[in-house]
Amino acid sequence: MTGQRTVLITGASRGLGRELARQYAAAGWPVIACARAATAPDGEGIEHRQLDVADMGSIAALAAGLGGRPIDLLINNAGIRGDTGGLATIDPDDFLEIMRINALAPLLIVQALLPNLLAGERPIVANISSRAGSLAEGTLDDDDGDYAYRCSKAALNMATVKLAQDLRKHGIAVLSLHPGWVKTDMGGEGARIRVAESATGLKAIIDGVGLADSGSFRAFDGKQVSW
Ligand code: NDP
Repeated sequence: MTGQRTVLITGASRGLGRELARQYAAAGWPVIACARAATAPDGEGIEHRQLDVADMGSIAALAAGLGGRPIDLLINNAGIRGDTGGLATIDPDDFLEIMRINALAPLLIVQALLPNLLAGERPIVANISSRAGSLAEGTLDDDDGDYAYRCSKAALNMATVKLAQDLRKHGIAVLSLHPGWVKTDMGGEGARIRVAESATGLKAIIDGVGLADSGSFRAFDGKQVSW
């Protein structure tokens, strides 16, 4: 099959999501850029949709608005870091909100958009995770107080593995991706990697994957990350 492939990106108002939208549009893909606030489309080929990933009604409205439109690539990018104060400051409501946005929402979005993905060409779900959520590598060179964030990305990684198992029979590939430590509002000014470099790396990985790679965890530089 030929034709233009369509990408839907969550959390496209700023940071990595916005840059991924820009790069996919520049590459000629129709881009559905989803953001909480009703901001104007960002450029040619970019279509804006309202989506608060924490809100089931908002996810359902997005799916209804898309009708049966094929989605070839879903990038679950929206995320929050939340409290970084360590064990002493864990607040149950904040913790659950972070789990909801970072781990549960990507699953609910796949659930709602499954008909769109099934209509896509070589469909891919890319979950923007973090090495911080790797049990094997996450604490090797970092010692912070990000309990909720790390737990949420570890849960997202299992969501990737489980979705990969479930959706393989439908020809849908599912990945976890680590964008590096990126200069965004979340990553901060001290971060090592520019947002354009991270997005370019992520896009190269996504563009090169097939069903055989489904269920893997890759960093923006192409390296495998251990679960
Ligand atoms: P930013 O804080 O710059 O951007 C986060 C984006 O997520 C914003 O567009 C924000 O929208 C959106 N978002 C948050 N909550 C919701 C919600 N409820 N509904 C819809 N959108 C929401 O972060 P980054 O660009 O750095 O992060 C992007 C992804 O990369 C995240 O999943 C993050 O965990 C991951 N990541 C980032 C790293 C880094 O160093 N920056 C490292 C590892 C992983 P709004 O403008 O409305 O707030």
